[in-house]
Amino acid sequence: DDLADLKKKIEALEAGSEERRIGVREWRRLRRIPQGSVENGVIRTYLEWLTSLPWPSATRSPSANEERIQDSGFLAKARAQLDADHFGLDQVKRRLIEYLAVLRLRSMVEAASQASVSQQPMPQLAAKSAQCPDQNCARKGVKGPILLFVGPPGTGKTSLGQSIAKALGRPFQRISLGGVRDEAEIRGHRRTYVASGPGLIVQALRKAGRIDPVILLDEIDKVGQSNFHGDPAAALLEVLDPEQNHAFNDHYINVPVDLSRVLFICTSNTLDSVSAPLLDRCEVVELSGYTYDEKMHIARRYLLPKQLMANGLSESSLVLTDDALLRIATLYTREAGVRGLERALSTVARFKAVEWVNHLDSLACKERSNAVPKGWQSRVEGEDIERMLGVPRWDGEEREREEKIGVVYGLVVTGLGEGGIMPVESTAVPGTGRLKLTGSLGDVIKESGEIALSWVKAHAFDLGITASKGIDPLKVPDLIDIHLHLPAGAQKKDGPSAGVAMTCALVSLLTGVTTSRDMAMTGEITLRGRVTPVGGIKMKVLGAHRAKVLKIVLPWANKRDVEREVPLEVRQQMQFYFVQTIDEALEAAF
Ligand code: ATP
Ligand code: MG
Repeated sequence: DDLADLKKKIEALEAGSEERRIGVREWRRLRRIPQGSVENGVIRTYLEWLTSLPWPSATRSPSANEERIQDSGFLAKARAQLDADHFGLDQVKRRLIEYLAVLRLRSMVEAASQASVSQQPMPQLAAKSAQCPDQNCARKGVKGPILLFVGPPGTGKTSLGQSIAKALGRPFQRISLGGVRDEAEIRGHRRTYVASGPGLIVQALRKAGRIDPVILLDEIDKVGQSNFHGDPAAALLEVLDPEQNHAFNDHYINVPVDLSRVLFICTSNTLDSVSAPLLDRCEVVELSGYTYDEKMHIARRYLLPKQLMANGLSESSLVLTDDALLRIATLYTREAGVRGLERALSTVARFKAVEWVNHLDSLACKERSNAVPKGWQSRVEGEDIERMLGVPRWDGEEREREEKIGVVYGLVVTGLGEGGIMPVESTAVPGTGRLKLTGSLGDVIKESGEIALSWVKAHAFDLGITASKGIDPLKVPDLIDIHLHLPAGAQKKDGPSAGVAMTCALVSLLTGVTTSRDMAMTGEITLRGRVTPVGGIKMKVLGAHRAKVLKIVLPWANKRDVEREVPLEVRQQMQFYFVQTIDEALEAAF
């Protein structure tokens, strides 16, 4: 019967291990409890869980996976797998290959040390492993680093995780952390609850069926803050901390679970909302978005074939010209990632699928092959796109960008990690020198506004605002109220990086000079007029490039970020002004 069945499963657990001890104890209890009672069901479920989890066994025979790692040419194969799934992302791939190489070397060291250990007499071994940190390490096994992929939506974070698992030949599990508010969701409920069960981590481990899967913790920035349901971020910390996770404590399972062999990969859109201790445990890998050039390659080599396949079309039945592809990329999507592009391509493919079927009907063709029929128009030209996708979403936006007194363009990074440009608008009304700031602004950005106004007032004479005898009262900062606004009004904005743009907007307003509409700027300012560095440079510059901005004013201290992170092709198309002071910024802007 099934009691015997359970017993067999328990006996399959490693002799002398904690899980086996608990299993036997619970099984003995189960025997004494009448069948059909609630308690009986609870224990039974528990034992099912306990016995179906992958447990490490001390006398580890090398798993299929480790043999695979020892294969010659493993690295080259892994690289090929990564290349087959994703275009570009060289730095990321290089980091992964490094990881695999280390994994191989360490598992060799481990195997060697295990061999030598088994030759030693026991007491010596105990003393040695207590002292020698190296041996300790070896005992715990090959630890993976925790990689954190950060970047805007659709840049390939999730799918890269999948690809790594494939390259490693390990099972892949994804845990979505968005909206996890309750510690128990990660750590499980204690068994005293009637409907209790293990947490997400243990569930993933069971589904994977191995102790060394790749587990993707998706959107760790969206994990809830500490609240009366406990602190989910703290539970995650325990999961990810290599010092603790070889004995992870799931409240339901209640036997230490070894997570040290799991390769954890986290993803997040921004770093702002990731808790600092969590960030400290991770190795951050940035995927900050693609240039149009890269997008074209991705579309041609990866997205289009995928969409054709998904929509039942063969490669030869739909040929997009370069012009058509570029139009889709520039006029219909304006994103850092490629998800919108993929969706647009899917729309095109479906449109052609309908045409295809109609065409077959018109030929009264009953043939069951998907060979290209006679008279089929497979080419899609640039002009055809509008017919398929409708009116372009972005056409003319550059023309709409106006050169207006009191308006300049700043650079922003949205909460999703996507860079772009944003106008800073200012206007003046009769008043008493006060400042009004609107646009859902946070405290820091409001202070930037105040600093900007103070600096402009302090330098009013130098700027030529209050120079001549015939003073225009409407231009004297003390006789007017100034209103600074950052659209869109419903979007929350914060951070110090709008300082330069706000100053330039005020100078433009009060002197009547405008900046070019191809100009955008970013930088923090101080009261003494220094321009200090800001973050998110790569995303900002790529966003500006997408918006067809040609000139950018940046803090001097960010020069190295530009040189290191921004692709050469983008750098060549834009002009950068690196400034140390507001005076230099004004010089560049006007
Ligand atoms: P989110 O932050 O919204 O979760 P994400 O970064 O996880 O976004 P994915 O779902 O991984 O985005 O990627 C979206 C799509 O784009 C996938 O179909 C993926 O295969 C494709 N893609 C992204 N980058 C590349 C690339 N470099 N080469 C080929 N395909 C790519
Ligand atoms: Mg994702």
